[in-house]
Amino acid sequence: QVLQFNTNCPECNAPASTNMKVVQIPHFKEVIIMATNCDSCGHRTNEVKSGGAIEPQGTRITLRITDPSDMTRDILKSETCSVEIPELEFELGMGALGGKFTTLEGLLKDIRDLVEKNPFTLGDSSTPSRTGKLQEFIGKLQEVKGKAQAHFIMDDPAGNSYLQNVYAPEEDPELSVQRYERSFEQNEELGLNDMRTEGYEPEPAPRR
Ligand SMILES: [Zn+2]
Repeated sequence: QVLQFNTNCPECNAPASTNMKVVQIPHFKEVIIMATNCDSCGHRTNEVKSGGAIEPQGTRITLRITDPSDMTRDILKSETCSVEIPELEFELGMGALGGKFTTLEGLLKDIRDLVEKNPFTLGDSSTPSRTGKLQEFIGKLQEVKGKAQAHFIMDDPAGNSYLQNVYAPEEDPELSVQRYERSFEQNEELGLNDMRTEGYEPEPAPRR
């Protein structure tokens, strides 16, 4: 079921339409995908909303990339998920890219576009060799796509991100999903601490 409503293109401001669709991700949950296509300038956006629900625990998903076919794995990266590729000394903070439902290849392309548009994402912006660093990063990223020996880590304190297990329902030997308790700071970032008003505080455990 697709819901359509009128918006304006975020790029050229021409009237455009947004399609809103609820998608069930297998072995995960339902998400809302909002896609806007502009007939005027060709701009396309694709945003995923997790529906605001925050899971009781955060998730840290680690994929060991071993094969080019890993690039076709489905990925749901929520708005609150950060991405890390330790072999590339790369870290993308939460909120740097919006929510995405795509493949690993699609997400790496989005990262590349983002880094090209804004090299500050690579850190130490003061070095004169920023362009060199950018080229190096893009080269390495290409290598990861080609023969690949790297780790791809998604850390989502809201627990709303997903990386496809291609062996499901069997265990995936290259994929590990850890669930963890959020820290106070992470709850703070998600705005959960403010939501806890007096009446909702958990009752103290009965003493006996
Ligand atoms: Zn447009």
